[in-house]
Amino acid sequence: MSDQIRITLPDGSVREYPNGVTSLEIALSISEGLARNVLAAKVNGTVQDATRPITTDAAVTLLTWNDTEGKATFWHSSAHLLAEALEELYPGIQFGIGPPIEKGFYYDVDLNGQHFSQEDFKKVEDKMLELARQKQEFIRQPISKAEAVAYFEKKGDPYKLDLLERLEDGTISFYTQGNFTDLCRGPHIPHTGFIKAVKLMNVAGAYWRGDEKNKMLTRVYAVTFPKQKELDDYLHLLEEAKKRDHRKLGKELELFAFSEKVGAGLPLWLPKGTMLRERLENFLRKAQVRAGYQQVVTPHIGSKQLYVTSGHWEKYGEDSFKPILTPEAGEEFLLKPMNCPHHCEIYKTKPRSYRDLPLRLAEFGTVYRYEQSGELHGLTRVRGFTQDDAHIFCRPDQVKEEFIKVIDLVLYVFKSLGFDDYSAQISLRDPENRQKYIGSDELWEKAESAIIEASAERGLRTVTELGEAAFYGPKLDFMVRDALGRKWQLGTIQVDYNLPERFELEYTGSDNQKYRPVMIHRAPFGSMERFIAILIENSGGNFPLWLSPDQIAVLPISEKYEDYSNEVFLTLQESDIRGYVDHRDEKIGRKIRDSELNKVPFMLILGEKEQAEGLVSVRRKGEGDIGSMTIAEFVAFFQNEIKPVAKAV
Ligand SMILES: [Zn+2]
Ligand SMILES: [Zn+2]
Repeated sequence: MSDQIRITLPDGSVREYPNGVTSLEIALSISEGLARNVLAAKVNGTVQDATRPITTDAAVTLLTWNDTEGKATFWHSSAHLLAEALEELYPGIQFGIGPPIEKGFYYDVDLNGQHFSQEDFKKVEDKMLELARQKQEFIRQPISKAEAVAYFEKKGDPYKLDLLERLEDGTISFYTQGNFTDLCRGPHIPHTGFIKAVKLMNVAGAYWRGDEKNKMLTRVYAVTFPKQKELDDYLHLLEEAKKRDHRKLGKELELFAFSEKVGAGLPLWLPKGTMLRERLENFLRKAQVRAGYQQVVTPHIGSKQLYVTSGHWEKYGEDSFKPILTPEAGEEFLLKPMNCPHHCEIYKTKPRSYRDLPLRLAEFGTVYRYEQSGELHGLTRVRGFTQDDAHIFCRPDQVKEEFIKVIDLVLYVFKSLGFDDYSAQISLRDPENRQKYIGSDELWEKAESAIIEASAERGLRTVTELGEAAFYGPKLDFMVRDALGRKWQLGTIQVDYNLPERFELEYTGSDNQKYRPVMIHRAPFGSMERFIAILIENSGGNFPLWLSPDQIAVLPISEKYEDYSNEVFLTLQESDIRGYVDHRDEKIGRKIRDSELNKVPFMLILGEKEQAEGLVSVRRKGEGDIGSMTIAEFVAFFQNEIKPVAKAV
């Protein structure tokens, strides 16, 4: 064993340390500030305790709160702290598992009949903070299986014994902090003092090992942070997300509804929601016309044979809506799960030559997929939805150019709707496993480099994932971050070699030979339903003026100004400004308040003075009075306010 080992840091620099150095000591040799923030370390690809000695040359990444793995280690260690606090407060309880989750962690416990509810949260939080302040170290101890079993038999913890049964001797370790010892493979943060803010979030039932034949345990959810401010910010974000929940706002703003009688997961678009949706559709339709798409319409059902040919029947038939039968024996139709097969049949309506390509067919096509009822969620998971679908049929040498055009279209959509923070994922073949993909090597290489080059030319921030491509082609997915920092997947561009093969699509080349076109599926919004849900949550219902269902509310001070109000409203309608007149017999203050609640961008107050002088008094939502103007002046002002949507592609 050599006395010195070589440690390679992420920046590529190599430093020598005595054999047995810990990651924490390495951090300290760099700076004290760094050492104060190190939660764990990745050593030759494995995350481990920062306090663990390193005994070989190694690549070391120090993990802090800013790293996903650092957070996971922090939260998992916090689960031990929660268990320690619970054991002090509820002696005799037994423990299941305590993993980190996306935001925070939980511990499953068997309270053995002791009462525990929301009212007890504060008590547990205080106990956790008290223990955290003691800066208890997490001490690792490798242990034999027999000793581990003896420990938990003595303690009387059947769940840990159950876990131990499945572990191999020689791989088992205990971790102890303060008076609490847990069976755990780690890693953990150096000591509990890093945990500065604690919040219990929820308590729920959970079967041991997720099996309903087992006992129901109590799952305690919590979240912790290294700073109180981070907890405050997080709780604020949760509040904000609740306020922006599209299911809540959709109801309040009368955009959409669900009816049990119509069926779960089948949204009903109300007049205001329909207005919003049509605006969006028209916006994209216009952009698509400019980009050379042709609009088509296809039916909501198709013969079962169509989907046998496409392969959808084999893949999804069993788990989706069952075939529709007709009086004709043996005749079967399916609700359309995808628009692509229909578009392939449109392609085949006449012979195509290389000069006809690319052919870009677009459709706002409604499709139906059977989602499990537990999976349904507002507009984001539904059983019937409308895709802003299009299929591009092109020659292999056109793939890159078409990708660039679609990327431009997607970015135009994002910019117009205020999604400024986006990135993309390029999904390629698994190079180790090429036989599982359809299409020749040459085609794949061409398409993959087309996607990579197109993304680079458009300056996209991308990550590349090998093995994430569909068996029928590589793809590009867009992710956006919304106003609350949440990530949503939007817009996919997918190359497809499969359907042209299955539908035997052809074009005649310049050499008079027959060739297969490449098919590209793309949907910038994904679906109207899901996109509008994201739009609602991102904007909190404060849509851009051009999308607002009601852009103005005309508010007469009393019924004396009814006629003048109608006259103003008609003039505005002629200028394509939408809204309503509030004819109710209510005080003007109430009318203003209601317009604000309905998030109407502009209110026009009409009374004695306005009528006499042919004026409107304008209020802007959230801002108040912005002055009086003539109707013509308001129209000009309004048109200036509808910011030109981002520069057209
Ligand atoms: Zn642990
Ligand atoms: Zn498609």
